[in-house]
Amino acid sequence: MKEDLKLERFTYPIVSKYLPLHAILEDMKVGILIIGDEILSGETLDTNSRFAAKLLNDHGFNVINRITVGDREKEITDGLEYLLKEADIVISCGGMGPTKDDITKKNLANYFGSELIWDAKVEEELRDRYERMGRVLNELTLQQAMVPAKAEVIINPVGTAPVFWFQKNNKAVITLPGVPIEMRHLMEHIILQKLKEKFVSDFICHETIRTVGIAESLLAKKLSIIEEEIEKSCTSEHYFKLAYLPELAMVKLRISGIGKDQNLIQKKVLGWKSEIIPLIEEYIYGYGNEELAETIGKTLQLKNATLATAESCTGGYLAHLFTSVPGSSVYYKGSVITYAYEFKEDLLGVKNETLNTFGAVSEETCREMIAGALSRLKTDYVITTTGIAGPGGGTPDKPVGMVWIGVGNKNKIITKKYYFNRNRIENIHLFAITALDMLRKMLKEE
Ligand code: AMP
Ligand code: MG
Repeated sequence: MKEDLKLERFTYPIVSKYLPLHAILEDMKVGILIIGDEILSGETLDTNSRFAAKLLNDHGFNVINRITVGDREKEITDGLEYLLKEADIVISCGGMGPTKDDITKKNLANYFGSELIWDAKVEEELRDRYERMGRVLNELTLQQAMVPAKAEVIINPVGTAPVFWFQKNNKAVITLPGVPIEMRHLMEHIILQKLKEKFVSDFICHETIRTVGIAESLLAKKLSIIEEEIEKSCTSEHYFKLAYLPELAMVKLRISGIGKDQNLIQKKVLGWKSEIIPLIEEYIYGYGNEELAETIGKTLQLKNATLATAESCTGGYLAHLFTSVPGSSVYYKGSVITYAYEFKEDLLGVKNETLNTFGAVSEETCREMIAGALSRLKTDYVITTTGIAGPGGGTPDKPVGMVWIGVGNKNKIITKKYYFNRNRIENIHLFAITALDMLRKMLKEE
């Protein structure tokens, strides 16, 4: 935090930090129309528009607007008209179920002056699918085979609602179902490809560098010269951008290029990537889609070493992060969650006297947890956490957000105290990420 404040005095250009990457030559504008009362009321979190916007933006489309409307004819039509004023493409999402409350299909068919007709192909596909699953296709679901005559119908391989692609003048309106896994599958595997074929002729390239333990503003300071160079390289033919994508305790750096000349774009983007790496090497844990637990796993595998976790305040979250990585059973042996004093004593051999004298959230307890875990769980490395996630339980000398984290092997034990000030869930996440980063550094130094 203090470092951030100090930075105010430096002048460094934050180049196009929040500008979307879009196809400068084509500049295809996209509007996203989220339809559903449950989204509008806040009952359901709208994850679809985020997914669609990110995917489209990554592929050079310029998402200019995302709006949410209820399941009512006027709202849907007004929303659509509003988006179509500027957008070349409107993706609608939701209201495609066969029940009465879902009216998107009927509404859009009306809007485009199209009647609904029976589509034998959709019917066949639905019947086949239900037969394969050994399920009975009911009348209501079968109504999904009624489609707008004026739309291109795209079969939905993961659900019952087909996608409709309406075309008006040079604009496209595409209706997707709201069920997130269906929507994602359709966007990623079918619609994106079709949109690219129809609307984008530019080449796009992204390179992602993943960092941990450094603030976005400090990264920006370290990379200011390269950022400037990237900005200066933009021409009417090529667009380049360095984006900072911060998450809790981590920042992803994404270098992107878009334009006609594939060789030039790839060369420049990869060139900047190799210039950036040495400037921030100590904070880099991976590239592309690699998660921190995955990076640690790879290093452990190279060393032929094993890992266990002994968790208090992270309550199994570290175990979850490791076991989320496919193939982690090779190096990750498991976790003991020792939340209460008795568990710390009985499962890890922490001394009752230590707990009573110094408390659970103390360096002494943290050290005994590591020593106990190493001797009882018999892995090469262990990670331990003991802290106060909040909102209650803090004291003046041990406030909410304080944590002792330990990493160790038979030769060395490292313990460190950190303070965070987020809500409970975010604190737990920060404790875990910080613990992973401590082990990453220990493995790197060896
Ligand atoms: P619908 O297509 O409106 O019948 O929605 C089907 C299911 O997807 C419902 O459970 C919705 O709550 C969910 N859903 C609809 N829109 C979204 C959205 N934008 N984000 C996340 N879930 C959604
Ligand atoms: Mg709905």
